[in-house]
Amino acid sequence: MAQNEIQFQKGLSLHDFFKDYGTDEQCEQALAKIRWPDGYRCESCDHENYCYIKSRKVYQCTRCKQQTSVTRGTIFHSTNLPLSKWFLAIYLISQNKNGISALSLKRQIGVSYPTAWSIKHKLMQVMVESDARYKLSETVTVDDACLGGRLSGDKPGRGSGNKQPFVGAVQVNAEGHPRYVKMTPVKAFTSYEIQK
Ligand SMILES: [Zn+2]
Repeated sequence: MAQNEIQFQKGLSLHDFFKDYGTDEQCEQALAKIRWPDGYRCESCDHENYCYIKSRKVYQCTRCKQQTSVTRGTIFHSTNLPLSKWFLAIYLISQNKNGISALSLKRQIGVSYPTAWSIKHKLMQVMVESDARYKLSETVTVDDACLGGRLSGDKPGRGSGNKQPFVGAVQVNAEGHPRYVKMTPVKAFTSYEIQK
């Protein structure tokens, strides 16, 4: 049987995840790299030198003494949960096609149920917000489809009253692999609705 290229594309194995993000220090370094891709820069005076206050995980500018941390302004800030647990939760949520229950998250990252529930909802919320901000670009393919089942005695196909028409748009990379997808419900498949 032919393999589906998309389903069989390379992912991040659990083993590799733990190798790269298994400790709090590794996760902190990953966040520092995102915040300062070209090395530390003071947010107040643009100075490049800092001293690291290990006990408080704070970076202090050696010129103006302004302090910051890699979690400032992120959902990881002001929580007692170690960064490695946050990262593992992100990994588990993003690896499961159908998402993951708060109960399963609780068991797998070793936290209480309310904590797991709260982590899950915070992560889902930032995913929704980032999705809403993201605008598809480069190569985008568009198709229309219907969601919903046929009810007994209903008209077949698109004529079924229980179907929600929607337009799906997928941004693909140079290899033709999907990168981002947007689904938009439409009233009908008219050129006016599609254009909107
Ligand atoms: Zn400074």
